[in-house]
Amino acid sequence: MTAKILNGKEVADSIKQKVAGEVEKLKAEHDFQPRLVVVRVGEDSASAVYVGNKVKTSEELGLISEHRHLPEETTQEELLKLVIELNNRDDVDGILVQLPLPKHVDEKEILEKIDPAKDVDGFHPINVGRLSQGQPSLVPCTPAGVIEILKFYEIPIAGKHAVVIGRSNIVGKPMAQLLLAENATVTICHSRTENIAEITSQADILVAAVGRTNFVRGDFIKSGAAVIDVGMNNAENEEIARELFAEDELEKRLNTIAKRGATLVGDVNPKEAKEKAGYFTPVPGGVGLLTVAMLMKNTLEAAKMRRLGK
Ligand code: NAP
Repeated sequence: MTAKILNGKEVADSIKQKVAGEVEKLKAEHDFQPRLVVVRVGEDSASAVYVGNKVKTSEELGLISEHRHLPEETTQEELLKLVIELNNRDDVDGILVQLPLPKHVDEKEILEKIDPAKDVDGFHPINVGRLSQGQPSLVPCTPAGVIEILKFYEIPIAGKHAVVIGRSNIVGKPMAQLLLAENATVTICHSRTENIAEITSQADILVAAVGRTNFVRGDFIKSGAAVIDVGMNNAENEEIARELFAEDELEKRLNTIAKRGATLVGDVNPKEAKEKAGYFTPVPGGVGLLTVAMLMKNTLEAAKMRRLGK
């Protein structure tokens, strides 16, 4: 079997197009554009790239974005004060505090201070609770993006056995809740799970959110399954690249390692997945591209719910 490769860009573009259309309609019919404020503290270089992407995409889709960049030494009180100010501003629809925050800041206290109605990352306990009760809520972007991929490619979820590897608050747990809400039968695996391949190889839908290169091997996968690779890891040497990639991709990957010192890979062995799975999301080019698109969608939804009650 050769798996169908699921193209994250195609799905993300279709979501972004719909968001841009709705934003235009809001502007014409209700005279406002949703506003997203992204707060970044300190100089983490990966965060700078992520925030830049979020601001750029907002502007492309007609949303208004504000980037608040605060110095590394910002105190807990100063950051709380900013969140409260943004909560109180009627023109702000979405607040995103980019993680990780500097070590001296209590991340949990900051995230819990965000107004749940503006919590476009979907990390606030109120939104987590609503999701688990099956109520409308703002949902974490990456797992919500996985559901969009499955639906876009018309991969059945209801009644299927979905196995999620990983139980973090930002990916694994909300992923399991969303699959359950779509009527899948859900199993969650984690670092203490025994005989993991035995469990994952029963999955019709297998979602890997572990953070370990080459973790999901061919024997983890049921023949014909949809394999969704959320992992984002760096592969830094030729040996691992040869394990992961077949001839058609190997040279490109080796060149990237030679040039940049590493190449981006997921948790799944793509060479083995392509032979065994029915569907497969590549890294890069898969789930990663959905996260920002879903943030835009969440900002739009937050604006509609808060300003129009729908
Ligand atoms: P995390 O908080 O480190 O959670 C990893 C999970 O994997 C944990 O639940 C852990 O189990 C489990 N795990 C670790 N080793 C395992 C093992 N040997 N067997 C089974 N389970 C194991 O990571 P995360 O934030 O959820 O992210 C997971 C991956 O997704 C990372 O590579 C991250 O970079 C990527 N990611 C991608 C996007 C995107 O946009 N594509 C967004 C977010 C995250 P325990 O709970 O037992 O420790």
